[in-house]
Amino acid sequence: MELADRTAFYLAGAWAPPSGADTIPVENPYTERVVAHVPAGTAADVDRAVAAARAAFDGWAALPPAERAGHLHRLHAALLSRAELIATTIATEQGSPLALATRVQTGLPLTVLKAYSELAERPAAEQVIGNSLVVREPAGVVGAITPWNYPLHQVLAKVGAALAAGCTVVLKPSELTPFAAYLLFDAVAEAGLPPGVVNLVTGTGPVAGEALAGHPDVDLVSFTGSTATGRRVTHLAADRIARVALELGGKSANLIFEDADLVRAVKVGVGNAFLNAGQTCTAWSRMLVHRDRYAEALRIAAKAAAGYAPGDPFAEGTRLGPLVSADQRARVRALVEKGIAEGARVVAGGPEAPLPGRGYFVAPTVLADVHPDATVAQEEIFGPVLSVIPFADQDEAVAIANNSRYGLAGAVWSDDQERALAVARRLRTGAVDVNGGTFNPLAPFGGYKQSGIGRELGRFGVEEFLQVKAIQR
Ligand code: NAD
Repeated sequence: MELADRTAFYLAGAWAPPSGADTIPVENPYTERVVAHVPAGTAADVDRAVAAARAAFDGWAALPPAERAGHLHRLHAALLSRAELIATTIATEQGSPLALATRVQTGLPLTVLKAYSELAERPAAEQVIGNSLVVREPAGVVGAITPWNYPLHQVLAKVGAALAAGCTVVLKPSELTPFAAYLLFDAVAEAGLPPGVVNLVTGTGPVAGEALAGHPDVDLVSFTGSTATGRRVTHLAADRIARVALELGGKSANLIFEDADLVRAVKVGVGNAFLNAGQTCTAWSRMLVHRDRYAEALRIAAKAAAGYAPGDPFAEGTRLGPLVSADQRARVRALVEKGIAEGARVVAGGPEAPLPGRGYFVAPTVLADVHPDATVAQEEIFGPVLSVIPFADQDEAVAIANNSRYGLAGAVWSDDQERALAVARRLRTGAVDVNGGTFNPLAPFGGYKQSGIGRELGRFGVEEFLQVKAIQR
């Protein structure tokens, strides 16, 4: 698909030229060609955007909930009318297979925005505590910084919540996949949101991202991305004691007990690990299997991995697209090689597996006999690489699962539902799926430990953007 250059930012309700002339090339990771450019925003552009958001804040915050909700419903309608274009754009800039780009990359954020529009109609209730009236108020101007792996979902998970809460926003999307955000702002313009309520500046992390995270007039920085960048953003916000909400990396464990439906648990596990070519923060990238079923699980996993043939994201039936960039491919390949050097055994894929002649592909790879402390069991790989680890009993399984600096997601499979739920409670992670429990877009989403601070989605996601005030009478 062809993408056209974008040459403006969206500031104070209109398309506005950037202050500088520099641009950023955006590649199609399947063709390895530059498809279009976006402006490289500067600190001056971020200043203009934050000033617009600040000027709009009092009016937006004071709108009756039904009016704010009406704007969000109109935004949802404008976005929905662009659904097909969004899916093909994301397949082009990010490399997601078209089916995934349609169902998840586009369908999920539409669902999420709809849910926030409905929540905006019903703001959090005021409470009386003794002689105090406790009220919730919008947190202020939000700086939103987002990654490339789900370029629209990661944006709406925070921007939708912030707007529903009554905050105004400046968005800096990933420079690797900025075109989905441009389509969102086409929808913002069509929906007629009040000027300055939501603003777009594209640019690199070190320039536009740092300017936004460190801006003295941004009250809350909502960041999704790597843990290393989250740490930097937190340092920048700390100088002025601004709030941060962080959705960071993960190294989630899928625990499969001896009494589980093994075929289902392993197949669903492999599918989860390889979703979006493994570029998913919640990916169950460690599969922990009871030693009595370990050999059988490896055979099922290898067979399932073979179903993820790499191919053209636009070709029918493609289940595995390329990684987003040459850098990402180099990183993932190096980690696979390190895993093998540290003793892992390749049971599917690996460095020698055949790949299409172009595109930033890594073969879907299953590594067996991975030591729980090995690099591939500890580092977030963000590629189609699954590490399988045997365990002897329940306590050992929980100990291995919790042996991680991350704590984002996980899964438990056992024929004994009570036992599975008990194990789920022992995992130090923000989410656990028990026996194939499906993703709930209204449930709180976020991490323990170095996977983040705060929650997105649903009522909890909106609360992230509220302040609490006690009025004594
Ligand atoms: P990244 O940290 O490199 O970049 C994320 C965003 O931060 C981009 O917009 C980038 O331009 C910006 N940025 C980079 N350096 C910056 C700086 N110094 N100051 C301010 N902003 C800066 O992450 P990525 O490579 O785009 O995304 C992959 C990572 O995101 C993975 O670690 C993944 O786990 C994580 N992620 C987490 C979640 C979640 O919800 N927990 C969801 C998706 C992705």
